[in-house]
Amino acid sequence: MIRLGLVGYPLEHSLSPLLHTAALKACGLEGDYSLHTVRPGDATGLGALANKVRAGELTGLNVTIPHKRAIIPFLDELSPAARTMGAVNVLCRRGGRVVGDNTDAPAFITALHTILPRPRSAVILGAGGAARAVAYALWATGCEVTVAARRMEQARELAKQFPSVQAMQLGHQALEAIDPDLIVNATPLGMFPDVESRAWPADLPFPRKAVVCDLVYNPLETELLQAARGAGLRVLGGLGMLIEQAALAFQLWTGCNVRRELLTESLRLAIS
Ligand code: NAP
Repeated sequence: MIRLGLVGYPLEHSLSPLLHTAALKACGLEGDYSLHTVRPGDATGLGALANKVRAGELTGLNVTIPHKRAIIPFLDELSPAARTMGAVNVLCRRGGRVVGDNTDAPAFITALHTILPRPRSAVILGAGGAARAVAYALWATGCEVTVAARRMEQARELAKQFPSVQAMQLGHQALEAIDPDLIVNATPLGMFPDVESRAWPADLPFPRKAVVCDLVYNPLETELLQAARGAGLRVLGGLGMLIEQAALAFQLWTGCNVRRELLTESLRLAIS
């Protein structure tokens, strides 16, 4: 019996149960995927779930907003990439130890390459767990990365993890001064139900040749992407990354490599 789950807050609109249930079925495995709502700052709740993975009561656990960093003190080991990023989105059990890994970074690059194979300079809006994965993934491919956050100290803390990554204040004045070929929204702005909010200032034109990418996948096309498309730019939503990070996590837990088309189809059916 494969017991999988997700910890985060809030979780009502998560698509992960649907994806992993479809993956279990496709691989002919018996199991389930449970949701564990743990409020921000609830260390006891995070520790208890890490213990369940350590004890083998859970085969694997996904970690989402806002716990991708907060879970780290409860783990026995980190993969080299997760250690460099300082963010974890998947827990596995290896020889009685809980190991933190990160499938967001490779998933982001796979999704991005469908539209922009060689980004040269990028600005990431937000400096939380997903921003760390994106910064790592872009930095590792030689892209010039700037992280823009509403709390400058959070942007600085992220930047110091990677040589050459720059930090800036998220705001009109600083964004106006740069000309990236990739903009990535790694904040929850625009996510259901707050669909009218956006991280890029509404009164600031986009850089003329930028590709605009939003990690938010609900709605499939956010207000930010609609505005960028309206300005004639190429856009990428968060769904491709969501599917890829889930498939990579599922492979870590079960060894089974699920066809991405199958996962996409299961989501389409559920959404329609
Ligand atoms: P997180 O760790 O909580 O980080 C969120 C970041 O956004 C923080 O820097 C936060 O700043 C900032 N932020 C929040 N509200 C803001 C606001 N009103 N104005 C400006 N900045 C704001 O969350 P995460 O795990 O990185 O996730 C971020 C988003 O990416 C979520 O919508 C998540 O669903 C999405 N995501 C998608 C995928 C995918 O596969 N497509 C994967 C990962 C994440 P403060 O710390 O100051 O609040």
